[in-house]
Amino acid sequence: MSSTFSLDPGADQLAVRDWLHGFAADVMRPAAAEWDEREETPWPIIQEAAKLGIYSLDFYAQQYFDPSGVGIPIAMEELFWGDAGIGLSIVGTTLAAVAVLANGTDEQIGTWTPQMFGTPDDVKVAAFCSSEPDAGSDVGALRTRAVYDEAKDEWVLNGTKTWATNGGIAAVHVVVASVDPELGTRGHASFVVPPGTPGLSQGQKFKKHGIRASHTAEVVLDGVRVPGSCLLGGKEKLDERLARAREGVKRAGGGGNAAMATFEASRPAVGAQAIGIARAAYEVALDYAKTREQFGRPIIDNQGVAFQLADMKTRVDAARLLVWRASWMAVNNQPFTSAEGSMSKLYAGETAKFVTAQAMQILGGNGFTREYPVERMHRDSAIYSIFEGTSEIQRLVIARAVSGMPIR
Ligand SMILES: Cc1cc2nc3c(=O)[nH]c(=O)nc-3n(C[C@H](O)[C@H](O)[C@H](O)COP(=O)(O)OP(=O)(O)OC[C@H]3O[C@@H](n4cnc5c(N)ncnc54)[C@H](O)[C@@H]3O)c2cc1C
Repeated sequence: MSSTFSLDPGADQLAVRDWLHGFAADVMRPAAAEWDEREETPWPIIQEAAKLGIYSLDFYAQQYFDPSGVGIPIAMEELFWGDAGIGLSIVGTTLAAVAVLANGTDEQIGTWTPQMFGTPDDVKVAAFCSSEPDAGSDVGALRTRAVYDEAKDEWVLNGTKTWATNGGIAAVHVVVASVDPELGTRGHASFVVPPGTPGLSQGQKFKKHGIRASHTAEVVLDGVRVPGSCLLGGKEKLDERLARAREGVKRAGGGGNAAMATFEASRPAVGAQAIGIARAAYEVALDYAKTREQFGRPIIDNQGVAFQLADMKTRVDAARLLVWRASWMAVNNQPFTSAEGSMSKLYAGETAKFVTAQAMQILGGNGFTREYPVERMHRDSAIYSIFEGTSEIQRLVIARAVSGMPIR
């Protein structure tokens, strides 16, 4: 593991980047418009990614532990440069995998993560289900309950989850539920729901503004029974944590929770996805501005257009610096004292929205049509100020971290 942050990811990581770029350019880009229109999970492309080794836990683990500390952002940026909807279909499983890696025992990791990805001949996806109709930003308000049936050593889950990426089509669902509502977020725990468990069903599948190739749906849990071994981290650890929390309730507020641990670790990676979209739109706009002629000269000859492109490129690079710093810090176990993970996601998400909007403007009427990809990129970018914590919530987290005050 490197101890110094460097902007040179090294020859190995650059080779991975170039390899992923080839997949993004040759496989994802040509298919992007079709799957966006179909609004369906692009199973053949996930399968192709699996055959090449791009869709596997091993691949993401290798990227995470790359000595550069920036393996994951580099991979995310290339895939989402290819296409965000297909990209999320390929990497959506990792959110559930990270939840198991962050909270599970070695045995749970060994049992469940392979089932999340399946095999190249029989690919599967996984879903992470935290959000609920009345618990979005306010994770503490979630109502899904997990009750322990001691006689059978089983947990019984009841509730409705919403907005779950891959919800209902996943082999493995990871569900965040309350085991002690009085403790708020400190009474939450994460559970694996194994493939084919009775009582879990898909509710409404959402028709979305962007990332339409990625499946998003409600997940209904109606008396879902899972073995005791499906509680991530195990019962003993949960009981200890609850006892500490009950003590803490009397002494002082605050404390972490299972869903937050998952989100915190994944924020720089999500920021990198936004950078991929932004870079893609910037490149299209730059090419267009150099070739489109009005008033007898390329439109980039106008300072007004050239300056827009200068701002777009500056913001893409600034966002990447924030994302790489946060990723490097996370890999090297450096504490996020100023919420650097949130900073990176906030700035990259807002950059994707800014850059794709500017790109549409530079393409004029063409930018507004589905003949050109910036219209789709603009729609896709919008989710990056909403999911994995809205921009407002990132600002709240940053403001609390830098001020040390309970800003509301
Ligand atoms: C396509 C898509 C995929 C998703 N995938 C997943 C998934 O796989 N798993 C999962 O668990 N969830 C997922 N989500 C849910 C996502 O994380 C939530 O939508 C997000 O956290 C916001 O919650 P909400 O939609 O309920 O908005 P709300 O929390 O209702 O927020 C509405 C508005 O109020 C603002 N707001 C709320 N509270 C405050 C505050 N204290 N201060 C200032 N402003 C505030 C918000 O910033 C926002 O602008 C997904 C969502 C979408 C749309």
